[in-house]
Amino acid sequence: QGLGRAGPSATADPLLGGLLSPDFDDRSCLSRSRASLYRQPSLHNLSSHLVSRLRRYESLHQLCGPGTPAYSRAVARLREAMDGHASSNSTSSSDTECSYIIWTPVEGLGNRILSTASAFLYALLTDRVLLVHHPADDLNDMFCEPFPGSNTTWVLPEEGFPIQGIKGLNVRTRESLGNALGRGEGSRDPPAPWLYVHLQTDYKPDDRRFFCDDGQETLRGVRWLVLRSDNYFVPGLFFLRRYEEELVRLFPRRDTVFHHLGRYLFHPSNTVWGMATRYYSSYLAPAEERVGIQVREFKYARISADQRYKQIISCASRESLLPAVENATLPSSASAHHQEQEQEQTKRKAVLIVSLNGDYYDKLSSLYYEHGAAAVTVSVFQPTHLGTQHSEKRQHNQKALAEIVLLSFSDVVVTSAQSTFGYVSQGLAGLRPWVLMLPVDGKVPDPPCRLASTIEPCFMKAPHYDCRTRGDSDNGKVLPYIRQCEDVSYGVQLV
Ligand code: GDP
Repeated sequence: QGLGRAGPSATADPLLGGLLSPDFDDRSCLSRSRASLYRQPSLHNLSSHLVSRLRRYESLHQLCGPGTPAYSRAVARLREAMDGHASSNSTSSSDTECSYIIWTPVEGLGNRILSTASAFLYALLTDRVLLVHHPADDLNDMFCEPFPGSNTTWVLPEEGFPIQGIKGLNVRTRESLGNALGRGEGSRDPPAPWLYVHLQTDYKPDDRRFFCDDGQETLRGVRWLVLRSDNYFVPGLFFLRRYEEELVRLFPRRDTVFHHLGRYLFHPSNTVWGMATRYYSSYLAPAEERVGIQVREFKYARISADQRYKQIISCASRESLLPAVENATLPSSASAHHQEQEQEQTKRKAVLIVSLNGDYYDKLSSLYYEHGAAAVTVSVFQPTHLGTQHSEKRQHNQKALAEIVLLSFSDVVVTSAQSTFGYVSQGLAGLRPWVLMLPVDGKVPDPPCRLASTIEPCFMKAPHYDCRTRGDSDNGKVLPYIRQCEDVSYGVQLV
């Protein structure tokens, strides 16, 4: 109904070439089976190894996830170990011993999605089960369960869980990997019952040893990990020799990691999907082409709305993303009949503006209202302009996610430098975005935008740590397929 693409057709592939499991009930999560009707099909090869690892992970989750006997045993063992008791003998040698990584949120939605995807890849590499900690209401009714199995969930049941105060864990926490290594407790026997992995922007050199062999060796026998990160730390996993071979098999094309994991993991809830698809059908579907423009402003890179608008227009005209306007409206000599005929032949372009700020929509829609463009009609839309970020509010996050999803339905994407919100949109779309570069001294930079060389997000706060010398190193120069990010000089990304 009103789908701009082919619509429900025999060619649409809801399971995305085997990326998604068929073992789901469609109604509980419409987006999972319907996303392929709205998004461009992926042009990026999916390895059969990734598909088989995902199915293996799903079996592990069904065996070890919350609600299963193995989970209850693992929690009981954790509690005993934390109380200082030896493990009870209620386990028989045939019982599976499961290991877990608990992801806990920090920062905005983009950061959260990217760190969840990173944690999931780490779980795949280390045979851990990924659980998400939702301490407040802000992440409820956002995403569907990504893993099949009605007997279990990926949400950590908080009641009675022995590790208390997860929300307060930080760089100073005694149980952090960095602090354990700093105290020389890296090779404890028996291993600690649980450890905290701190990969947030303020992480210290010892925390960065997560990306070194000794860090990984310390974590190996620890059944429960809690992770907090605001980063897309996937590129860092490629620095670990022990995972290299497996990563290469999973992702022969290294620049598609988030694209595949993002489409695998993040299925918006029916509430969010309803917002996105209602908007799409009403405004974007009638067009032949959709251009999504995400405009993000950061306090540390101030620019006036006028200058920012100039930047958008300058990018769009240099790169021919939007049609140039004619100085006058349609020629007055054209008869009404003639005009109608012309309009029938014109192409319709829909421009989706996504921003906290409503100014760009006002200016751009006025431009195309007041002036025509040759052979194209341009309609401009913006679902919300919420003003300020409120990541603690569920409805705010639902709207943000609906806009990320809408951007991912675009044929051309323009994003803003250094925005994780933009990274997620381009990754789900599977498109290299045109990136609006950071302003220079409050002015339009030259060039105003650049076509990104990869669809991969940037690991903004890369460790830049040399595991051998324990000093600084430039992570952008170690591997041929990991380079300094184009929009964050400190960061690195897969290309
Ligand atoms: P980043 O700060 O750009 O890296 O992206 P994040 O998603 O991590 O954090 C920004 C948060 O601000 C988002 O999650 C939203 O809550 C809000 N936000 C920023 N830009 C937009 C926007 O264009 N639309 C909506 N609805 N929310 C936005």
